Amino acid sequence: MNINTPSVDVQPVVFNHPSFMGHEQVVFCHDRESGLKAIIGVHNTVLGPALGGTRMWAYQSEAEALRDVLRLSRGMTFKASISGLNLGGGKAVIIGDSRTEKTEEMMLAFGRMVDRLGGSYITAEDVGINTRDMELVKSQTDHVTGIPVEMGGSGDPSPVTAYGTYMGIKASAKFKWGSDDLTGRKVLIQGIGHVGITLVKHLSEAGMEVYVQDIHQDRIDLAVTDFGARVYEGDYADAPVDVYAPCALGATVNEESIERFKCSIIAGAANNQLRNEVTDGALLQSRGILYAPDFLINAGGLINVYSEIAKYDRAESLRRTEKIYDTTLEIFRHAELKSITTHQAALEVAQARIDASAKLK
Ligand code: NAD
Repeated sequence: MNINTPSVDVQPVVFNHPSFMGHEQVVFCHDRESGLKAIIGVHNTVLGPALGGTRMWAYQSEAEALRDVLRLSRGMTFKASISGLNLGGGKAVIIGDSRTEKTEEMMLAFGRMVDRLGGSYITAEDVGINTRDMELVKSQTDHVTGIPVEMGGSGDPSPVTAYGTYMGIKASAKFKWGSDDLTGRKVLIQGIGHVGITLVKHLSEAGMEVYVQDIHQDRIDLAVTDFGARVYEGDYADAPVDVYAPCALGATVNEESIERFKCSIIAGAANNQLRNEVTDGALLQSRGILYAPDFLINAGGLINVYSEIAKYDRAESLRRTEKIYDTTLEIFRHAELKSITTHQAALEVAQARIDASAKLK
């Protein structure tokens, strides 16, 4: 037997992956010099080029990274569609710890990989990636957004994401409690990163009692010193709050946590909050917990980076982002009318726009 031939067949993990769901392209990238290992997912380009941020994370395995990029890029397809943008859905992940393993060479190599896709994928920031990184990527490719304002870009999208998430929380309160006055209500924000910290600001200013949680002490300290937030030490699922706002990673809303939640509203910026979008959505509904679909209320950042392509200014980005309030209410009403989950309702509306555009083509 040839010693170079694997003796066992390895199960293919891409085309039959549970999260593959019709992806157009899944590209594995490796650069030997910089050590870059990345995966780019292009889910759907019916409405336009696939735009989505790059996440750098210390994934425990390649399988975990693949799953993340597939789920995230599909989410971008629906996010762009429901927000009325002429964009498709894509996302990239870089495997590694952004605090200790990121180098300039790695970001340059990543930029070259994005360039090779010829514009079918346009990148931006996500977890672990900042505008300085995008500046480096920009030196290698034009297919990048979220670049610094000084370079003619729209800057960090996170504050706009936080603003849209705030609109989604207000709309949820209006639907659940009949008023969007948040005064005196309690919220737990999990993840005080780029988005989380601005959300702390909006919700504190709106009179909420804000509790925070992060794996990094410096982020917690920032929320406490700058905005008087309180620290929540327990498990997020047990927090005695009215609103849970996930702003870290995905899948924190799952079979185990749903049973324990004390909150009546889940509305946050994190992507892919539901571990299983079908069963977890239904469980939330049966427990009477109102869920604001993540890809709808966290679209502010995408709306902001899209301004670099559609050429509108920050004021227009904020105006468009403010509309998330009305769209969220429409989705809640649509779900109620059709007796489906709010997540399903948002998917239906987003898919309808994609189908209509595909027909025209
Ligand atoms: P970030 O990297 O700046 O912040 C994430 C924060 O979460 C970090 O402070 C990290 O320490 C913390 N964290 C990670 N795991 C945690 C855990 N288990 N418990 C508590 N805290 C934890 O990222 P960001 O840009 O603020 O994005 C936050 C979320 O919002 C992500 O899911 C991202 O995909 C999503 N999102 C971001 C944008 C944007 O404009 N940045 C747009 C749409 C969606």
